[in-house]
Parts: sequence; structure tokens; C-alpha cells
Amino acid sequence: TQAFLNRVRQHQDLNAFITVSEEGALQQAQAADQRLSAGDASALTGIPIAQKDIFCTLGTKTSCGSKMLDNFIAPYDATVVDKFNRAGAVMLGKLNMDEFAMGSSNETSYYGPARNPWNADCVPGGSSGGSAVAVAARLAPAVTGTDTGGSIRQPAAFCGITGLKPTYGRVSRYGMIAYASSLDQGGPMARSAEDAALLLQVMAGFDPKDSTSVDQPIPDYSASLNDDLQGLKIGLPKEFFSGELDGHIGAVIQAAVAEFEKLGAQVKEVSMPNLKLAIPAYYVIASAECSSNLSRYDGVRFGYRCENPADLTDLYTRSRGEAFGAEVKRRILMGTYALSAGYYDAYYLKAQQARRLISDDFKRALAEVDVLMGPVTPDTAFRIGAKTSDPVQMYLEDIYTIAINLAGLPALAIPAGFVGGLPVGMQVIGNYFGEAKLLNIGHRYQ
Ligand code: GLN
Repeated sequence: TQAFLNRVRQHQDLNAFITVSEEGALQQAQAADQRLSAGDASALTGIPIAQKDIFCTLGTKTSCGSKMLDNFIAPYDATVVDKFNRAGAVMLGKLNMDEFAMGSSNETSYYGPARNPWNADCVPGGSSGGSAVAVAARLAPAVTGTDTGGSIRQPAAFCGITGLKPTYGRVSRYGMIAYASSLDQGGPMARSAEDAALLLQVMAGFDPKDSTSVDQPIPDYSASLNDDLQGLKIGLPKEFFSGELDGHIGAVIQAAVAEFEKLGAQVKEVSMPNLKLAIPAYYVIASAECSSNLSRYDGVRFGYRCENPADLTDLYTRSRGEAFGAEVKRRILMGTYALSAGYYDAYYLKAQQARRLISDDFKRALAEVDVLMGPVTPDTAFRIGAKTSDPVQMYLEDIYTIAINLAGLPALAIPAGFVGGLPVGMQVIGNYFGEAKLLNIGHRYQ
């Protein structure tokens, strides 16, 4: 713990942490030592981890990357945090992220962007940017992230680490600050699939406090890591390998797929004609849900409050106006518009119909093959500032990740190679609750 805390201090310029819990971490480490000597340890007892600053932590600031919650100290732990505490893990602190998890570059954070350790002029991806930086720069052995449209996988790819977005409902959302509730899912980010398996083992499971949590048995994720891949059926969605994809990235992915063929896998092309609807459908649904979820930040119950409000309306409008950043405001405006009486059928309902078509595409494809493989991102980490003036360019970052959230499926991002000195990630998409297979595939490749 002390060694990692020292490293965190040495690399403050990477801006990976919003809060470092030095004192609390050392106390937890001492308690873990006692558990270890009492023979009461689990795999993570005494292992330092860090939490994305979207998970509520009792007594430690939970900002969600926003000025709105810069003064917010949660009165309880998120279920995920509680599970790590019970396992005896040590929390080093809270990790930088895009404001309310809205972004793909960590640049919407109120605390400024975290920096990519492979090139400090580049973004680490987002929204779990601080999480990916912490693992890639060895500031923490493993961390948590959340993924609404790609926020675990895209930063994992940009920073050359492993990230798993579990099946919707596999990991409790209780105490995880809501962005788009029908899409949000927490998951592990680590150096390897093997480490991600250890974290998922702790994070997964039914939680009566989350109404969308699913009561399904939890497999032993470490037990199947070395399973043989002979006969594994891999599908390559042809829509993933056309258009926007950088040719060099395509070549890295094809080379990785060839490695799986050497391990005995069979590869076939599949088609998912509705994938093109994913970005527009997602940005309607996610914005609609966020406009509703973020209505709780009213300057009254918690968070930022403007000075000297003239009346109640002034209190609401100035508190929200002063504390939300530009991207959050854009999403609230889009979402409120899409949900308004005259436009609901044209936008929100249409987007839900597109969502169904996308899910059906995955259902058809995953009836033919065991997993789908493709890129995580259309390009490698871009320079800080390169896409901030063009939101649509930023939204296109998620072109290969978003459809998976709309369908609620699990997907793993693993490091697959480099282009121009920057990491490239490969995505492996599985069937519902197929996390063990994905981790097995990631482990055999690494
Ligand atoms: N980049 C996407 C967005 O801004 C996804 C973010 C996420 O997964 N939290 O909404």
C-alpha cells in the first residue's frame, strides 16, 4: 500500500486521482495484515485498489467528476465498495472521470483530464479515464470503472489494459451515481484478464437494493481461465471492419484473430445490419435517462448551492447553471427535448425500437457463434483538445462499444498491439452472463 501511495504521489501530473485516501488506506492495510495473520484472508485481502469517483464511499468525497458534487460526502458505501471492504481490499482513493460519466476522453471532468501514460499529450479515453491511467501507470494494481456506452472498454483500449463490462444486472448499481440507468454497469479494470477475474468475483452478485440486479449463480471466474479454445466459434461482424476503422487498427485486430485460429478457433463473418442505429439510439436514450436522473441536483438536497438566491427558481437555475459543465447541460437539454410531449414518439420511442432491432441482431449472431470479436475504438488515443469543439466527433468514439450496452451484453477489452506507439484494444463480446468465457479468452491470448 505504501509503495503504491508513493507512486501515486510521484505521478500526480497524470491527474488520475481526484482524492487520495492515504490515511484510510494505511489503516485498511493494517487491518488486512491482522486478517492475514489470523488466517482469515480472501484473494484480495491487503490488495490496494482504487474506485472510480462515481461509487459512493462513506466518509470520503464522491464527486462524480462534477463541481455539483465537489462538496459531497456520501452517508453510505455503494454495494461494490462494501464488497471490496468485506474482502479486505485497501482503497487507495477515488479516480478521475468525465463529469457524471458523460464523455470519451476524461476532458469533461471538473478536475481536468487525466493524462495517458503512453503519451501525456493524449487523452486516456473516458469516462473511466483516471481508472485506466491508474492501472497503466502502475499507480494501482486494479481498479473499478463503469460503462454506459464504452466507458470501461474505450479507456482500457487507449491505455493498453484489460477492462470488462459485465452483463447488465451482474454487478449492483446501488450507490453507483446514475447516468443512464438502463445502460450503466460497473466492472473491473486491471492489467490482465486473470486479475479482472479476481475483481469480478468480488463485484458480481444479486443485490436486493438494486431492482435490476439479476439473481444468477456466480461461477468461479478463475477456474476456467485456462480452458481450451479448440472449436471456439468466433464471429466477425462485417460492419465492424468497414468505414470508420483505421486500417492499421484493423490489421492489429486481424492478427489477433489469427492467433485465436492457431489456438483452434473457427472464424466466420457475421452481419449485424442495425449496428448503424446504435449511436443515434444511444444518444437519445442516454440523454433522456440522464435528464431525469440529474433532476435530483437541485441545490437543495445535496451538492452545490448558489450564493444568495433571490427565490426558489433562482436557486434551482443558478445552482444547476453554475455547477454543471457544458456537456452535462447539452445532454440534459437533448434528453428533455426527446422526452417532451410532442416529440416523445418521434425520438424516445423510435430509439427504443432501434434498441430492440440491435438486440435482435446480437441474438441472431450469437446463435451462430460463441463470441464476436472486433476493435474497441476506431482510432488510438487522440491529443488533448482535438475533439472538444465537435461533440459528434467525440460521440463517434463509441461506435463499436455502444451497441453492446443497448443489448445489455458483456464485453471484454484486451490489449492487442500498438499503432504509432499507442495501444490498440480488441473487443470480445459474449452472450448474457458469459463473463467466464470472455475472461478465459482474454487469459489465453495474454
Ligand atoms: N462516451 C459515452 C457517453 O459519453 C459513454 C460514456 C459511458 O460509458 N459512461 O455517453
